[in-house]
Amino acid sequence: MNNYHVAIIGGGVTGCAIAWELSKYELDVAVFESGSDVASGTSKANSGVVHSGINSAPSSLKARFCVEGNGMFDALCEELGIPLDWVGKFVIAKNDNEIRELERLRDIGIRNGVPDLEIVDGEEVGRKERNISCRAGLWVPTAGITLPYKMTIALAENAALNGVVFFLETGVSGLRKVEEGFVIGTTRGEFRATTVINAAGVSCREIVAMVEEPNFQVYPCRGEYLVLDRKYASLIHSMIYPVPDRELGVLGVHITPTIEGNILLGPSAEFIDDPQDKGTTGDMMRTLFREAKEIMPALPERSVIAAYSGIRCKLAPPEEGGWADFRIEESSQVPGMINLLGIESPGLTAAPAIAREVTRLLSGTLPLEPWEDHEVRKLPGKRFADMSMAERAARINKDERWGRVVCRCEHVTEAEVLSALDNPLGARTLSSVKYRSRARTGRCQGGFCTQHIVRMMEGDMGMNIADIKLKSPGSKLFHGRTRRDRE
Ligand SMILES: Cc1cc2nc3c(=O)[nH]c(=O)nc-3n(C[C@H](O)[C@H](O)[C@H](O)COP(=O)(O)OP(=O)(O)OC[C@H]3O[C@@H](n4cnc5c(N)ncnc54)[C@H](O)[C@@H]3O)c2cc1C
Repeated sequence: MNNYHVAIIGGGVTGCAIAWELSKYELDVAVFESGSDVASGTSKANSGVVHSGINSAPSSLKARFCVEGNGMFDALCEELGIPLDWVGKFVIAKNDNEIRELERLRDIGIRNGVPDLEIVDGEEVGRKERNISCRAGLWVPTAGITLPYKMTIALAENAALNGVVFFLETGVSGLRKVEEGFVIGTTRGEFRATTVINAAGVSCREIVAMVEEPNFQVYPCRGEYLVLDRKYASLIHSMIYPVPDRELGVLGVHITPTIEGNILLGPSAEFIDDPQDKGTTGDMMRTLFREAKEIMPALPERSVIAAYSGIRCKLAPPEEGGWADFRIEESSQVPGMINLLGIESPGLTAAPAIAREVTRLLSGTLPLEPWEDHEVRKLPGKRFADMSMAERAARINKDERWGRVVCRCEHVTEAEVLSALDNPLGARTLSSVKYRSRARTGRCQGGFCTQHIVRMMEGDMGMNIADIKLKSPGSKLFHGRTRRDRE
């Protein structure tokens, strides 16, 4: 039975940030992820905003880790090649009441240590954002955007490069405390670890329940989004937020530019029973579009190309306002078990700071000797689509597969798809390719390129066609061939 110093349950941004941090020490670390790739849960389905810290109550863990995490992004993204853009954000007010809310948010931000906040009049907002009209706006220059799944992938792949073992498609189904640590029951057999970190997101309560009676409930709250075609990228330049709804503990439907040039509308906030229900609904799509149009009347009809949803791990029900703080703690009943509970927004921003805090908590139990051979591999740099003609020619001269475009919408080449498939985690689904290369994210949503990628999976990676999946363990695309090749 394999024996690790640390077992991390969950390969979302929290678990992967912890894995990356721990890979800097001489420790044996394993990550167990039930999905077919990292970022299978909420970490791929959010706004991708690096929050500044104006929305969390002063002295809360959310405020502390958000502000600390925000301050770590420049160095982290530079080191790992994670895309980051400090586009800034406007919270806009349409009347006197809302202007008072802007003042309240500004004061919270100042107490949390957020710099350079400024309330400007509607004209000033209009000068920066010609499609937005309002009475006033709170300008937050330290808010930025990143690609949440790329961030998770970069953290995970670099952790793997430095010896962290990732068990994908490996759900944790049981945990037993034994004298020397834990026995972890999984869908791939049993493992042992001295300490366990519960980073299972919306499933965090199920993990706690394996070893003790949980003293909390999870109230899943779904957020749906609409994605606009990249040709509308110039509609806004910064993020546009309404004054947040204080009843639900969420930020409201906002308009967010993305690194890739699509604009996001959303998210909604709907408390649901099934934490795995990541569906999208026609009703909610219409509501999102209508609410976004109230903020930006110039929003064109037919600009939407896709929809998705993510699930917030809320520890407070709607009737209590939906707001509860993060819980980052070692269990008092089961020493060696560190639980990360209620890691909802701003969890993406907070992840690097949470990872440092977990490392500090572990330092009481484990010897943290720095690992001298620690190395870093940046994410692949410029995409073919963004290269100059000279750069493209140079690549094609070296390898002709740079000259074969697989995804026509996003101009992704065979070389880029191959590099995505050849990742150090061994993740090999169509979604693994999509999140690493952008193939299948354009207007046709994979209608043209899926067959080419499948052929590469078979031909270049030697995969059996019956094992090729869309995104998750159960999502096989093919049952077999309709016609067998002649002998
Ligand atoms: C609509 C929405 C918008 C958001 N916007 C932002 C934003 O703009 N900025 C920001 O900072 N934050 C944002 N957040 C919050 C942020 O997305 C989350 O805090 C963060 O992604 C949580 O990461 P995680 O790793 O804790 O959880 P997850 O990403 O959910 O990862 C948990 C992982 O555990 C795995 N798992 C579960 N059970 C098991 C098991 N038994 N065995 C093995 N694996 C298991 C799951 O498959 C999953 O991959 C948003 C959240 C939502 C829902």
